[in-house]
Amino acid sequence: MRLHGYESRPAMHWKPFSADKVECGLCPRHCRPNNGQMGYCGVRGAVNGALHTFNHGLSLPVAEEYIETEAVVHFSPGARILSLGNIGCMMTCVFCQNWETSQISHLDERHIRRYTPQEIVNLCLENGITTISWTYNDPVVWHEFVIETSKLAQKSGLRTVYKSAFYIEEAPVDELIECIDIFSLSLKSVSDEFYRKSTNARLAPILSRIEQVARSNRHLEISYLMIPGLNDSRDDVRNMITWVLAHLGDQVPLHLVAFHPAYKYTGVQRTELGTLIEARNMASDMGIRHVYLGNTQQTGANDTICTGCGATLVRRYGLISRPEQINEDGSCSNCGVQSPVKLPLAGFEQWQQPDSSADFKQSLEFHWHSEAQSVHVVRTKGIAPDRLRLRPLGEHPLVERSMPSGLDRFIVSRQSDNDRGVVISWDSDNQYKIMPLLDRAHYPVASIAAATE
Ligand code: SF4
Repeated sequence: MRLHGYESRPAMHWKPFSADKVECGLCPRHCRPNNGQMGYCGVRGAVNGALHTFNHGLSLPVAEEYIETEAVVHFSPGARILSLGNIGCMMTCVFCQNWETSQISHLDERHIRRYTPQEIVNLCLENGITTISWTYNDPVVWHEFVIETSKLAQKSGLRTVYKSAFYIEEAPVDELIECIDIFSLSLKSVSDEFYRKSTNARLAPILSRIEQVARSNRHLEISYLMIPGLNDSRDDVRNMITWVLAHLGDQVPLHLVAFHPAYKYTGVQRTELGTLIEARNMASDMGIRHVYLGNTQQTGANDTICTGCGATLVRRYGLISRPEQINEDGSCSNCGVQSPVKLPLAGFEQWQQPDSSADFKQSLEFHWHSEAQSVHVVRTKGIAPDRLRLRPLGEHPLVERSMPSGLDRFIVSRQSDNDRGVVISWDSDNQYKIMPLLDRAHYPVASIAAATE
């Protein structure tokens, strides 16, 4: 059997069920496909009495982004990451923010590429990217490739981020804890009814697996996507906070994330800022020490503040982070109190200032607007190395960079309220396109870009 023309290979976590069925044990769904059939996720199926994975190495084209796109703020702020999204998912959330790639029936196979673990590691090493991020749709259904690549990454001195809704079994999580450095896990509710009706999954395994990670020594941050009308009432939010405090403690960073209407849940507006602020105040009042707002540009909403003296340790605007009164070891440079931020200065690099402000011969311009505060800059034609100039429309300085080697896509994000847009120019005959991001961890594909341009 093949998926999009690619051969399958033997999977992990399964057992024979009957003469012509196997049982998958990767996620709590425990599908039992017959020979020649796929499981619920559409990327694992039975072949001659064995379970196979059909998406090993199959990915959307990889992108260079910031670690903040993954709702990670207490680990190497500002770090560049290599983001990889695969295809398929073990859940069917009606509000899915990446449904074009998570729901296999909607996938446009022209977006797919195949990578090997060594190629992924090499892309990081060649471009000075320190962290691989398993993200976008959900890495659970890519388990074999994630484990194989993450182990190789570890040996090469790279770090890994795992961003997931975490509908997964216990044994695979043990394997992940061995080779993943940072878990950014999405808790969408503490109501089983919500999970059944809106995601076609169950709550209990997700809570157990989050606790499993919390018991390990791995870095953990939690996101709560606030979906108007589904999980944003005061009771919903209070119940979630109560669970987090009781099971994860008051130190885990909690991200309250704005939702954009998507997939089958489009009859609502984006989450209002007032709803996020009310939820943040509730979380702080109930005792969560570090609360952040996701998918909002609100100045001051996401700064990391010293608990000793109130100094700003890391200042943030949207996806952009800047270190302020923080030392290399994470302590406050004003009063010395230790903060929870790990590797606080390792992620920041000085962009080159060009000798001249003259633009190169080709350019594209994008103006930030309420639906898009970040973009992917995508090379659509040509492979020759490029110098790129990024000229913000506002007070921020012109910078110059190289197009990452072997990559065709990187993120540019709004830097402040005074930043009105960006002009990208380049010095070759290659062709580029700007694709708006509707939110962080959103992967724009061609159909979305056409609709929003
Ligand atoms: S990973 Fe896929 S095949 Fe396996 S149990 Fe989950 S949905 Fe079914």
